[in-house]
Amino acid sequence: MSKFWSPFVKDLVPYVPGEQPKLSRLVKLNTNENPYGPSPLALEAMRAAIGDELRLYPDPNGERLKQAVADYYGVTPAQVFVGNGSDEVLAHAFHGLFQHGRPLLFPDVTYSFYPVYCGLYGIEYETVALNEQFEIDVADYQRPNGGIIFPNPNAPTGCLLPLAAIERLLAANPDSVVLVDEAYVDFGGQTAICLVDRYPNLLVTQTLSKSRSLAGLRVGLAVGHPDLIEALERIKNSFNSYPLDRIALAGATAAFEDRAYFEQTCRQVIESREALVARLQAYGFEVLPSAANFVFARHPAHDAARLAASLREQGVIVRHFRQPRIEQFLRITIGAPEQNQALLEALESALA
Ligand SMILES: *Cc1c(COP(=O)(O)O)cnc(C)c1O
Repeated sequence: MSKFWSPFVKDLVPYVPGEQPKLSRLVKLNTNENPYGPSPLALEAMRAAIGDELRLYPDPNGERLKQAVADYYGVTPAQVFVGNGSDEVLAHAFHGLFQHGRPLLFPDVTYSFYPVYCGLYGIEYETVALNEQFEIDVADYQRPNGGIIFPNPNAPTGCLLPLAAIERLLAANPDSVVLVDEAYVDFGGQTAICLVDRYPNLLVTQTLSKSRSLAGLRVGLAVGHPDLIEALERIKNSFNSYPLDRIALAGATAAFEDRAYFEQTCRQVIESREALVARLQAYGFEVLPSAANFVFARHPAHDAARLAASLREQGVIVRHFRQPRIEQFLRITIGAPEQNQALLEALESALA
């Protein structure tokens, strides 16, 4: 606290990201990064972008990247927005689409950045309880609102909401923006982008941080009706004209163009997830059905905080949230097979 601060700064409650430990020996299964490296073609494109041209500003509109995303999803570039990580895209959406003086709705157990953005932009919100199975029930969202947002699959549960339910939500809320945060959709979900032409109130966000292994590059995107995209562009151009640098634009475009590598690594993560779920269940864990690159699991006989501490002592880090309803769960990122094996061995000794 300082007299130099604008008054609202002292009331902000910032987001706390998962730990990025300095020790590289740790088996890091706490922030849902991809265990496989980025596409070799993306790495090559980024290396080629390092040179004399870095004296020039990047394309402020990221046109090549928008075209690559549009080609991938069969939409037009006018339906695509790109930003510095999907967190930035989400921030612009909160700022530009959710300030209507009516409460924004999101699940009680969800991505913990949502209430942070509400605090930053002075947006009122109401949380809607997930059902007993930790699923979203769209019938619970039938009340006056200034927008609806949820991840699909949800975080940190991993549970997937079927497209038919999303469509019911869109049809029931024609006067609000429904934002589907698809950070994990490539690991077993079906994208709602196929609905954007029919629902002008749908905005879908995605990130290259998880399924495209580029968390360190910071690239995210949104797809929706051009009017929604224009709101995001207006905010972005009132904030930072060049949120994506030349290296990020080159790498992200190449990553979108390299479908084969993307599909192969997603498949490997999904296979590892299914194998890990079976082993965790054999250890007595209850594991929520996951369509993401992580699982959310609890053990009926072992305290989650103590399990997380024991894993950490053994060099394996997972995420534990001290929050109502989920304090007995661990969120475990799917690693490469040898990392998952190290996790299972550490768990075995923690449970003994
Ligand atoms: C990881 C994540 C994001 C943020 O992705 P970045 O592009 O890395 O900013 C957004 N939403 C959810 C639900 C996430 O898990």
